[in-house]
Amino acid sequence: MSNVNRLFSVRKIYDPDKSDALFVKAMRDNCRYQYKHCREYCEILDREGFSPDDIKTSIDLARLPFLPTLYLKRHRLTSMSARRLILKVTSSGTSGAKSFVGFNMRSMRNAFKMVCRVARYHKLWSARLTRYVIFGYRPCRDNSLGASKSAWGFTFFAPAASRVYALERKQGGYKLDLANIKSKLVKYSKGHLPVRTMGFPAYTFFLLRQMKEEGISVRLPKGSLVCLGGGWKQFYAEKVSKEEFYKLCYEVLGVDDKHVVEFFGAVEHPILYTDCRFHHFHVPAYSRVIIRDVDTLKPLPYGEAGLVNLLTPVFDSGPMLSILTDDIGVLHNEGCPCGASAPHLEILGRTGVKDIVTCAQGAESLLKDMLKEDL
Ligand SMILES: [Zn+2]
Repeated sequence: MSNVNRLFSVRKIYDPDKSDALFVKAMRDNCRYQYKHCREYCEILDREGFSPDDIKTSIDLARLPFLPTLYLKRHRLTSMSARRLILKVTSSGTSGAKSFVGFNMRSMRNAFKMVCRVARYHKLWSARLTRYVIFGYRPCRDNSLGASKSAWGFTFFAPAASRVYALERKQGGYKLDLANIKSKLVKYSKGHLPVRTMGFPAYTFFLLRQMKEEGISVRLPKGSLVCLGGGWKQFYAEKVSKEEFYKLCYEVLGVDDKHVVEFFGAVEHPILYTDCRFHHFHVPAYSRVIIRDVDTLKPLPYGEAGLVNLLTPVFDSGPMLSILTDDIGVLHNEGCPCGASAPHLEILGRTGVKDIVTCAQGAESLLKDMLKEDL
């Protein structure tokens, strides 16, 4: 079995001591492959004087040249014929630039194995029929957005009794129907089947706040989950605290914070980060995180804020093994009461965000703005 496949078979997902050596080998193998099959990547490494064989220990990973996500949005780097790709995904791009990534059979199988193990650890699998409420797009053939695909994938952790989407396709475009979502939540609260909601924290927050203002307070059936994905970026301007959000979930839906689960990931780095009981994003065996100084781009020690650099060997189809995001974050390693020994990543904000949408705009205009950005 190859080192990459072995890495994605690791069972102790939050025990980096057990996976460190294997992670380094898998990264080196992936780097060799990309160097050989992607001309642009080969040129970048040569220019930086870096050879894939220079990756010998985890310290060397910080020296591996990274590709900024902004660069990937403008340059499509591939190391495999498009015919071998069984899934193609695009990021939601600001100002028209989008990242494109493709999964071949092996990457797909490894990503699937990872999702299964992470879901098992976080007890997301359930045999109970579940009603899904998705604050996002109903999937369709011509929508290749990562957010849409991952929200759809999410509806398979428990068998679906029903799926309702906030954005329905009508007359060639998407139409937002929050009133329908609201009435469905009220209806489901009177039934017995657990409900799982999934969406951007901003979408969920605005709807819950609207429901609170209208005096709606329900108790979703036992076992219901409020799931969040896609980050809090729309909140950076107003700093809505997570505590405030959890309080609202409990007031309006009767779901306590133990049943609020948040996910983090990126199209260019499709590793499933899931927060623990204490709402920490521990870094799983399948990836590593380096925080870099905003000015010098040198790696920073634990506890210091900087640019988030994400590493994983999951992709065969292109050199996405070390990407530099425009997120600002901190890596913590002071231990967590949940028992996971892996450090955890805290996302603090994003660099260079213009036109930050404020809470005052309300859900509808926020969603419309986001739609314009995505489509
Ligand atoms: Zn934890």
